[in-house]
Amino acid sequence: MTEQKAVRWEKGGDGIVVVTLDDPGRSANTMNDGYLEAMGECVDALVADKDTITGVIVTSAKKTFFAGGDLDSLIKATPADAGAVMEKSMTIKKQLRKLETLGKPVVAAMNGTALGGGLEIGLACHHRIGLDAKGVVYGQPEVTLGLLPGAGGIVRTVRMLGIANAVMNVLVQGQRHKPAKALEIGIIDELASSDEEMLEKARAWIAAHPESRQPWEEPGYRIPGGTPSSPKLASILPAFPANLRKQLKGAPMPAPRNILAAAVESTQVDVDTAFRIEARYFAELVTGQTSKNMIKAFYYDLQAINGGKSRPDGHEAWQPTKVAVLGAGMMGAGIAYVCALAGWEVVLKDVSLEAAEKGKAYSEGLVAKGVKRGKTTLEKGEALLQRITPTADYNELAGCDMIIEAVFESMQLKQEVFREAMKVVEPDALLCSNTSTLPISELAAGLDRQGDFIGLHFFSPVDKMPLVEIIRGERTSDASVAKAFDVTLAIKKTPIVVNDSRGFFTSRVIGTFLNEGVAMLAEGIDPQTIEQASSQAGYPAPVLQLMDELTLTLPQKIRNESKAAVEAAGGTWEPHPAEAIIDRLVAEFDRKGKSTGAGFYEYADGRRTRLWPGLRTELGATNHDVDLHELSERMLFVEAIETQKCFDEGVLTTDSDANIGSIFGIGFPPWTGGVVQYVEGYPGGVAGFVARADELAKRYGSRFEVPASLRTRATAA
Ligand code: NAD
Repeated sequence: MTEQKAVRWEKGGDGIVVVTLDDPGRSANTMNDGYLEAMGECVDALVADKDTITGVIVTSAKKTFFAGGDLDSLIKATPADAGAVMEKSMTIKKQLRKLETLGKPVVAAMNGTALGGGLEIGLACHHRIGLDAKGVVYGQPEVTLGLLPGAGGIVRTVRMLGIANAVMNVLVQGQRHKPAKALEIGIIDELASSDEEMLEKARAWIAAHPESRQPWEEPGYRIPGGTPSSPKLASILPAFPANLRKQLKGAPMPAPRNILAAAVESTQVDVDTAFRIEARYFAELVTGQTSKNMIKAFYYDLQAINGGKSRPDGHEAWQPTKVAVLGAGMMGAGIAYVCALAGWEVVLKDVSLEAAEKGKAYSEGLVAKGVKRGKTTLEKGEALLQRITPTADYNELAGCDMIIEAVFESMQLKQEVFREAMKVVEPDALLCSNTSTLPISELAAGLDRQGDFIGLHFFSPVDKMPLVEIIRGERTSDASVAKAFDVTLAIKKTPIVVNDSRGFFTSRVIGTFLNEGVAMLAEGIDPQTIEQASSQAGYPAPVLQLMDELTLTLPQKIRNESKAAVEAAGGTWEPHPAEAIIDRLVAEFDRKGKSTGAGFYEYADGRRTRLWPGLRTELGATNHDVDLHELSERMLFVEAIETQKCFDEGVLTTDSDANIGSIFGIGFPPWTGGVVQYVEGYPGGVAGFVARADELAKRYGSRFEVPASLRTRATAA
């Protein structure tokens, strides 16, 4: 029995040793040095004492079973550390190997979420019992941090489930499975509904399997589904890398490729050699830049945001009880749904009852789909719909303590609906606008209670997109920011907080990406090549396709407003090379984008069919002879440079908001870790980025000139 260690163990009168994972310094267990040392001692003690042991139960004293790898140390590993990373991975595996070959039954009593390293500990046991409780998940999501399971997870999952099942259901996408699904897939063997029941079941299993060992130690064991040399698997295996290439579209994401390679290669050798193969691929990922970018964004930045870094201190937690959604169009309908889902009463107001009901029908569709797919029950779905009241009558807004406005994009109209609604709602209701382009401070200026007025910028489709951009106007109070922050978390979205500016942060930055794609057309570059360059950079939608979705008249409108503002301030508008192309498409060829059935693409019945041939014949965009990598970089660079300007102007205040906002809101490629991390992680760091931007500025003009602040950072670094 040891005290104050990350792993402790105790043998009961029945000879069963309970190994408890309980890192004394942290709220969750990770594979840090403390674990390594304590687990090493533990397995050695078990081996020494094995003749008196009947079985082993591995469990945890934390709320979660085990969180996974030690990200604090993984993010610091440099290419020079590759050997050490590999050896550490081997040490962890050797310890777990001792456990699984103890010659006694070993059961994992996974009394809470086990992800990554946590599940890998479980996989080294002969039997896994999961906790059937809300919020508990099991899986190996390393790939979502640019990593792979390096504690034997690939080797064991493949030997347990077969290559195809392991790769598709567990490893390459890193799904987090609810307990029932984990059981169905086979990464869990049994479920229990409480810790006590779990321990009882574990003891019963040990009693019933005194000679237990891993399936792959049994004589005559074969990998389920066969090895790559078996004809059936050999016939489907070549499709795997091809599918992966199709999914990744050339984006620099090494983790899925390494996972696939390790999975396949591991089946052709013995377990111990397979562990070395896995460790080598693991070390390559750990010491590469992509995993650092992704760990920064998806672990540290998200943690900072969800932990309230941008929420003003000193304000009590807040939730509305009844929300007025003004405008039941595409955005209002989605907003009504997510609010009703959070449990709030929603009054959905449009100009006619018919329009409001049409908005509610969107929720009806989502509920019906959810019930059909088993994601919700009929009762819950009906209760959600009951909470949405469609109306055309302002009087119905009585009692609302929050307004979310989503009517047409017009300053006058928006101010008018606010004035009407504010006569009826609670006198201290939070006043939110979902405008995507109108400055919040100007909108508020026409209204009373400017302190309660705030931008709550959703993304389309609202029910799917994970981000909300909270915009603080000049006179918005801290209390309103805190409230908007709480609301966003309550509807299970990620909040970023920015200060007011034309286009805020997200619309402003995505605009530079879209313009850059169109500027390439203006240079005569073939449109297919442009689309490929954006996909290869890792953007979820090709640039011209996205422009069509957003409609070509929107950037025209934004440009006209910005131009007027610049000129009103005595400045001169500097035209962007994209402008002439957009204007010609709209005015000369009447091609305004997808919603009008014609844009950069052709459409039939609303479906995209092909790129419009006129881009080549009328605009002369036929040049294929270009450096694709440079095209990709141009898109990433303009967004990164615009982001820096947002910092300089005080629109952005934290790197976390910029990184997460760019990935979750506007499709900045996840492998970069977000728009700030892209600059930090660029080869040569900030200085390397600046040097490359200078080259691009020479070739393509002032939009690649970096702000002085970035140049200063480059020399300071
Ligand atoms: P939409 O045209 O689909 O819906 C607007 C709705 O407002 C219509 O149903 C209209 O009947 C209703 N409306 C008009 N006048 C009204 C009034 N006086 N009272 C109540 N309802 C009224 O537009 P949308 O795409 O849902 O956009 C709405 C707002 O959200 C705009 O400000 C837009 O800029 C913003 N926004 C849109 C997106 C997007 O991707 N479409 C994203 C973020 C923000």
